[in-house]
Amino acid sequence: MRRIIALLFALLVAIPGARAQTSAILAGHLVDPETGTVREDQVIVVDRDPATGTSRIVAVGSEVTVPPGAEIIDLSDQWVLPGLVDAHDHLGITYKEDPESWYYYFTVIMDSTPLRAIQSFSTGFQKLASGFTIVRDLGNNGLYADTALRQAIEMGWVPGPTMINSGIIIGTFGGQLFETPEREDTVYPEYLNADTDDEIVKAIRRNIHYGGKVVKVCVDCQAYPYTVDQLKLFVSEAANAGQRVSGHVQTVEGARRAAEAGLWSLDHDRALTPEIHTIMAEKGIFRAGTETPKADWSRVTDAQWEARLAGLRDAYEKGVLLVFSTDADYYIPGMNRGELSIEFIESWKAAGIPDPEILKVMTINGYRISETMDTRGPIKVGLAADIIATADNPLEDIEALRDVRFVMKDGLVFKRDGVVAPLAFFHNGPAYGWRKR
Ligand SMILES: [Zn+2]
Repeated sequence: MRRIIALLFALLVAIPGARAQTSAILAGHLVDPETGTVREDQVIVVDRDPATGTSRIVAVGSEVTVPPGAEIIDLSDQWVLPGLVDAHDHLGITYKEDPESWYYYFTVIMDSTPLRAIQSFSTGFQKLASGFTIVRDLGNNGLYADTALRQAIEMGWVPGPTMINSGIIIGTFGGQLFETPEREDTVYPEYLNADTDDEIVKAIRRNIHYGGKVVKVCVDCQAYPYTVDQLKLFVSEAANAGQRVSGHVQTVEGARRAAEAGLWSLDHDRALTPEIHTIMAEKGIFRAGTETPKADWSRVTDAQWEARLAGLRDAYEKGVLLVFSTDADYYIPGMNRGELSIEFIESWKAAGIPDPEILKVMTINGYRISETMDTRGPIKVGLAADIIATADNPLEDIEALRDVRFVMKDGLVFKRDGVVAPLAFFHNGPAYGWRKR
């Protein structure tokens, strides 16, 4: 066994062209979303190790000299900032709009997992092109298409955002859909039915075993929601594996229970009343409101829109931990999934949230909910290099994010001058070593 491992190591080390790469970004305006400030004429030096697929920012500053042999990336006329985070999406599902049939939803969840894994790759690719370098993928991906994509990205087979994926959504009997009496468990594999404590523990462990990195629970999708004690079991069992619990909530009572049990995030805004916001602010619970804007492509009613804006404003004023989240798992002709995701800034603007705060929500708060502050996100020495750039200043006009000109993921340039050119991201071998869940 030891000899086989040694042989594999030798093979890995011997990959042709595997040598450290250094690049130097000349950043005309370097944006710090944490403080809402800009530093002019900065140099960011990035080292990348092709043998491991890892990158590291090794220097940032105005006095930094470009190391000899480094590739120079000239962004001196651009606004350079860290990558964006979508804290709630589903990469392996796209609603296929067909007004003639109410089956449109089911045509997608009945597609095969392999097809949905390829769809996940496509969706993640589109989101990365719009600057999203981290995505929390919260289920509805068939039999672990989300894990497959995460592994493929981590092994360097394909480009994509860093994935925080949930595996299968756990819910009480019927999940978010409805069972068929003649053939029960039809909601599987979109949902794992877990009604008893034993089933809850088993479902969580199963997901983690198959590569889930965050636990997603449907708190109150049926008339028999989880109890506070059951939700506490979710939290402790996830914590046993170092993971967090994100809860889909759609009733005020469900949200109250989820907040009392101490979930990591409450997802969707419809049940998040001022009372719930107060508890969330006290307990430091993230709000992933998935605030769909009112637009010609959306079906948001006037009443929903007013409630959405009032809710977002209330949460902001109370100091709730806000994150940018879209749930943008549908097909809008003429827009890719990255462009669609960026559309969601319209809700934040309409709610009156200042542009620098929106940028902070889309970056810093996103790293916080993803727990990557110490590994990737901020443009700081020692962290991985996920860096984007825009033509205008997003602190003054957040709409600048509609035109992301440059994307670097893990030290590799994915998009330059507004054009995606990712060939360097593709490998067909064990580029970064053993697959691990
Ligand atoms: Zn969702």
